[in-house]
Amino acid sequence: MSVFDSPNFDDHESVHFFTDPDSGMNAIIAIHNTNRGPGAGGTRFWTYETSQQALDDALNLSRAMSYKNAMADIPFGGGKAVIMRPGGEYDRRALFTAYGKAIESLGGIYCTAEDVGVSTADMEVVRQQTRFVGGLDSGEAASGDPSPVTAEGVFRGLHVAAERVFKQNDLKGLRVAVQGLGHVGYSLCQKLSAAGAKLFVADINEEIVALAEQELGAHIVDPGMIHAQDVDVFAPCALGGAINPKTIEQIQAKIVGGAANNQLSHPDMGNVLKGKDILYCPDYVINGGGIINVAAELSGTYKSDWVDNKLDGLAQTLNEIFSLSALENKPTNEIADRLALKRIHAAA
Ligand code: NAD
Repeated sequence: MSVFDSPNFDDHESVHFFTDPDSGMNAIIAIHNTNRGPGAGGTRFWTYETSQQALDDALNLSRAMSYKNAMADIPFGGGKAVIMRPGGEYDRRALFTAYGKAIESLGGIYCTAEDVGVSTADMEVVRQQTRFVGGLDSGEAASGDPSPVTAEGVFRGLHVAAERVFKQNDLKGLRVAVQGLGHVGYSLCQKLSAAGAKLFVADINEEIVALAEQELGAHIVDPGMIHAQDVDVFAPCALGGAINPKTIEQIQAKIVGGAANNQLSHPDMGNVLKGKDILYCPDYVINGGGIINVAAELSGTYKSDWVDNKLDGLAQTLNEIFSLSALENKPTNEIADRLALKRIHAAA
């Protein structure tokens, strides 16, 4: 299948293929839309069985970044990169050096940071070849790991949702089921616990749930049943597809809002949630805190006030989505897509 025929192509502005035989680096950088600014999105380092799979992933993720960045109201468009993990042995430093040169050759139409399989150390290697990179631990504007800021965005978003559904302006006493206690999930749990919420947690990592029990008084739940708890809020913070035809029938929460990307296995799930009177916080809106933090770094001078204002803006955008959803009787994910496209087109 050619690039143009891919179901994920969706009028990408450009797609760039890079290869460096010496290091074994094979990368695809997809730029979906630059109306709002250079394409910004993380770099994924992953094992793909075919280059078609890598291309599909890059295109799908890049388009999603256009939407996410528009809703986060940052001066960036959508882009994403995937590097195909070599099969045999390879020199990681040489590979990320070649990748950094590839980014630099694009002259700034794409800016990157970490995604799955990539560390801040890898990004430091990339930084030596190009300035179009964020999420670093060192440097004047370094913003480091974006996860705590993603958690803060989710936390503020849940306040807006709770106000709507439970008519309370805090999270005190609410029962929240958190799926996945990784970088974002654990930080969210700390915030929720401090706000007086009651935690139900699940992770395939037994040590981390034990820590949450000990530190935060969380109730440990079987990972296969976390979505089905008798709680007020379900917060997916692990992998995608948490809301699927099987789990959706068992959800008892009145709010679904968490950090995970691609929470709905299919967009129709948004309609089903609405039909069950469950308020869904669209994933790419509520989890935009991390890219806001990276954007602050990419601007050249990291300003925490700017980040704070953008996080408030994210919560306001969520509120607007909830209002329009109620007014038009349409699912929140559909409203979010429409608003994102409107912002992208308005910037043309
Ligand atoms: P992470 O890898 O640190 O944490 C994921 C956690 O989920 C791990 O502790 C893992 O053990 C757990 N997990 C995996 N499968 C599970 C299962 N079946 N049931 C329960 N737990 C399971 O990742 P993260 O950085 O915390 O990101 C979490 C999610 O949020 C991902 O979907 C990511 O794409 C998304 N996200 C993260 C950020 C960020 O700033 N890190 C920003 C936006 C979106």
